[in-house]
Amino acid sequence: MKYELVIGLETHVELSTESKIFCSCGGHSAANEPNDCVCPACSGMPGMLPVMNKRVVELAVTAGLMLNCEISRYTTFDKKNYYYPDLPCAYQITQLNHPICTNGLVPVKTSAGTRDIRIKQIHMEEDAGKLVHSGSFSYVDFNRTSVPLIEIVTQPDFRSAEEVIAYLTKLKSMFRSGGISECEEGAMRCDVNISVRPEGSEEFGVRTEIKNMSSFEAIEKAINYESQRHMDALEYETEVLVQETRRFDDASGKTFAMRNKETEADYRYFPDANLMPIIIDDEWLEKIKADKPVAIDDKAVEYQEAGISDKEIDMILSNHKIGKLLDSVVALGCNPKDTAAWILTDYAGILRKDGKTMDDHNISAETLAAIIKMVDSGEINRGAGKKILIAVVENDVDPVAYCEEQGFNKKFDEAAIEGIIDSVISNNEKAVTEFKNGKEKAFQALFGACMKELKGVGNPAVIKTLLQNKLK
Ligand code: ADP
Ligand code: MG
Ligand code: ZN
Repeated sequence: MKYELVIGLETHVELSTESKIFCSCGGHSAANEPNDCVCPACSGMPGMLPVMNKRVVELAVTAGLMLNCEISRYTTFDKKNYYYPDLPCAYQITQLNHPICTNGLVPVKTSAGTRDIRIKQIHMEEDAGKLVHSGSFSYVDFNRTSVPLIEIVTQPDFRSAEEVIAYLTKLKSMFRSGGISECEEGAMRCDVNISVRPEGSEEFGVRTEIKNMSSFEAIEKAINYESQRHMDALEYETEVLVQETRRFDDASGKTFAMRNKETEADYRYFPDANLMPIIIDDEWLEKIKADKPVAIDDKAVEYQEAGISDKEIDMILSNHKIGKLLDSVVALGCNPKDTAAWILTDYAGILRKDGKTMDDHNISAETLAAIIKMVDSGEINRGAGKKILIAVVENDVDPVAYCEEQGFNKKFDEAAIEGIIDSVISNNEKAVTEFKNGKEKAFQALFGACMKELKGVGNPAVIKTLLQNKLK
């Protein structure tokens, strides 16, 4: 029989906030040593009270807007009770009854076309700590407790591993470009719910949930393994499927049962009386909407129409900083396609030579725009523009002043240029003879000598033609 895969995802994303969700400790990434970023509140000392971080609400709403959700105007927190050593309060603060966003929709593109994945809800919650096992000891690190998360729950709408990966890739790009989360390794974790059913059937099969997956590669492998296990169970009655929680073992490529699926009742959820309901009024919502970055699909189309290549668009959308710099430089009147090349090839290349990335250096949009404009207007050539950019990165020079100082914008009139070419030709008899004997390299040498005399100023194409004509 032919079977169809049915998958629903619960994705946890660590938010890029300066502090934790209910205390003023720095976020997870601020920590160097275990238990660096810990206070009485996030380590669960008796009597401490949570204080809501406003920025978390704003980022969660922004994520909801990007995923086309309805935004709740009234949202509350609940306690999810369970005992585990990495959870000092023995409950996790999360949202059950009134999550912040509901009913969203994400179009996902695969080789089979575009499909809409429905978002059931997005809720805010705190992360748990981390256990570190070493020999016969176990240690607990509370740096991650109370780091803010959003959990994005989809409807069981995925029909292939490819759709799942396309969806996750899209979330990652959106959240990075929108400043919601850096989504670095481990900051985006998924629970993958899987079932299979005979093709054409309306009813869902028994589902299993594979917990806590963060690598896309592992997710794909786990889906392939688990769905095959389900199909074998149905087709050959190799085993009886039960609803349960499983883990994926990367080494063997298999999934293993962890525990029976817990139900809501197991967690004794109840409202958290220490946190007031949050009311999102029109004014606040409008403000968040105004600050919201353009949705990634709109941006991709805008860049495409400006002639930027798909590969460059991927790079731009995967990094919040690149997109922002590009948009600001374009807003100052530069051409988007040229600007993308200046940023992704020239600027990034100069930084890479120093072993740096764009995270290590901030060029202002004004500085970059000044260089691009000098080149585009023909005031200087591109090579000179690049030299100025290098000086900006290395010595923080003012681009216009530096250009004057170096004489890059010095104009030679045609007679002066011809004079220089003539002198180069008469001073390089050997190269001229070689050129006449058909040696292409000799031409490059002569051309290089001309550019050197001209101090890199002038249009290389024009000078090449003049030189060629003179040699003939
Ligand atoms: P629970 O509260 O038990 O976790 P939810 O209704 O919140 O259940 O669903 C959790 C996830 O499981 C959702 O992403 C949902 O889409 C997915 N899911 C539900 N039923 C199935 C199914 N039969 N097959 C695959 N995924 C499913
Ligand atoms: Mg659930
Ligand atoms: Zn704290």
